[in-house]
Amino acid sequence: MPLNDDVLTVFGPARAERPLVLDSPHSGRLMPADFDAALTPEDLRDGEDCFIDELFRPAEARGIPLLAAMFPRTYIDANRHAGDIDPDLLDAPWPDLFQPSGKARLGKALIWRTLDDGRPIYARRLGVAEVRRRIDLYHRPYHQMLRALLDDAHARFGFVQHINCHSMNPVSGAMGEGGAGVARADFVLGDRDGTTCAPEFTAFVRERLSALGYEVKVNDPFKGVELVRAYADPAAGRHSLQLEINKRLYMHDTRREPNAHFTVLQAQLIRLLDDIHHQFAPERTDGRNL
Ligand SMILES: [Zn+2]
Repeated sequence: MPLNDDVLTVFGPARAERPLVLDSPHSGRLMPADFDAALTPEDLRDGEDCFIDELFRPAEARGIPLLAAMFPRTYIDANRHAGDIDPDLLDAPWPDLFQPSGKARLGKALIWRTLDDGRPIYARRLGVAEVRRRIDLYHRPYHQMLRALLDDAHARFGFVQHINCHSMNPVSGAMGEGGAGVARADFVLGDRDGTTCAPEFTAFVRERLSALGYEVKVNDPFKGVELVRAYADPAAGRHSLQLEINKRLYMHDTRREPNAHFTVLQAQLIRLLDDIHHQFAPERTDGRNL
């Protein structure tokens, strides 16, 4: 599998040198030629977790792989099940696996129908072949690569910690979880109500971020979606945690540029990864293979 192409990039080593793997599914901004959306490329960056890959890039010097999607989240969302089809977006019934998550009601199923402010992304309906192509060429390779990185680290170390990295707007939009106008915390950790990683792992990350003075919420309003669900198995030593970072902590509010706090936050996050490695050893959890 290529480690760097128009679909995905693995920054850092192809094999984890620590039992830690990062992924950033929503920071891509290479617009595929067949997008055929009704909005401008700038508008289509609306769903982007801007600079999240850059923010975690120093992890590669620690031997921690960082998988990043190169395609925009509005084209196809890697953080959805491949069967999470929005029937209202298609021009024909979906003939393959249909596994709705409920996100279609927000316009945010596998392929988004609307932006966060409710604007429709397309002036047309999509064909089945077109959706299958996006799954085959973008969604599936991303999942296969993440799975390979996690399997390899798990085989090497006997356990793996996966941090699924995202960012969120400071205030929710019309199509946001919980409705419009809700101010977000500095960080939201998601472990799908304690099912995708050992509770001690979530608690450790929460405690470290809180100690830096940040407001941290857990599973409120973001519990984590497909990428923390799909490969997690805490009892088998596979721990996945979603990390949502408030964009105001690292970028300007009116333009897509890092702000003065970017490098400060970056250093804090890398320190967090070091603390996870050095201070959060398996034996601290009574042999629960974390
Ligand atoms: Zn995201």
